[in-house]
Formats: sequence, C-alpha cells, structure tokens
Amino acid sequence: MAKTNNNNRRRQFFRSLGGHGPIRRPPWTDDDFTERCVRCAACIEACPEQVLFHGGGGYPEIRFDEEGCSLCGACVEACGEPVFDTRRVAFPWRARIEANCLALGNVHCQSCQDACEWRAITFAPEIGRAPRPRLDTEACTGCGACQAQCPNHAITMTIEEMAHAE
Ligand code: SF4
Ligand code: SF4
Repeated sequence: MAKTNNNNRRRQFFRSLGGHGPIRRPPWTDDDFTERCVRCAACIEACPEQVLFHGGGGYPEIRFDEEGCSLCGACVEACGEPVFDTRRVAFPWRARIEANCLALGNVHCQSCQDACEWRAITFAPEIGRAPRPRLDTEACTGCGACQAQCPNHAITMTIEEMAHAE
C-alpha cells in the first residue's frame, strides 16, 4: 500500500510540473512541438516576461519561477515555423492551491489573488479566521502568475483531466 501511495505521489509530482512529464512547453503549442520547432530561440528572445528558456535538447520550455506568462503573443509573432496555433487553449494545465497555502493555514495572505489578472482566485470574508482562496478553474488560464508570486510555493500547475483519467 505504501508503495502505491509513493507511486501516486510521484505521478502527481510530474503532473504538477505540467503534464508532459516534467516538461512544460510555450503557450499555444502541442505534443508535436519537437517535430516542428527548429530550436532557433526566437521565442525565448522575444518573451518580455522571460518565462521561456532553453530546455532539454535546446527546445524551449516555460517556467513560472519569477513571472507568469502574460499571453502577449510575442513568442507567436517571433516564430517562423508552424509551431504555435492560437486557436488552441494556451496551456493544458490549471492552477491548484495546495495544502501548504498560508491562507488555508489561517494566515492572512492574498498574493495569488493580487497576481491573477484573470480574476480566477477570490477570497470571501470569513468570520473568525483568515479568508481562504477559491479558484475558478474556468477562468484560470494556467498563466502561472499566481505560482510565481506565492510566498510559500503552495500553487502548482496541474492537468486535472489526466488525474481523473487514471
Ligand atoms: S505569450 Fe508573451 S509572455 Fe507568454 S511565453 Fe509568449 S512571449 Fe512570453
Ligand atoms: S494560473 Fe490561473 S489562477 Fe493563477 S494567475 Fe494565472 S489565471 Fe490566475
């Protein structure tokens, strides 16, 4: 039983990193990314938020350590290959607030709400305790801005459909 739990935790860890194993690709891209990308780095250089970086094999990846993606489309404009398609949903993952969230632990913190320009995280007043966050997964774009700003690293980007499919 303990081994099963460990395996589940490991799978969840990789999902929390973006779903495609530990690799997270730029917005509006698909599973055929490495077949179409020529590794010219034009998107990385164009990104004003500096969330794109050289990943494994020189292929661009996205990381929300310092900032979120503003969905500005500069990467799309810069790319000369048929890699991006803005008719797609930008990201397959959505934010998830984990148990180590300070507000869930009754500490006053609303950094994620302040970071979210999509208004996907709200805090309603509660009597006798710190307000807790509510995430609207329909409004969430997976932009990662909340993850970048959370002081306790309590937000992950998770592909829930995969979690439910197993
Ligand atoms: S949409 Fe803009 S902010 Fe997002 S990865 Fe592309 S260039 Fe960067
Ligand atoms: S990932 Fe979702 S909840 Fe977080 S800032 Fe972006 S849109 Fe808002």
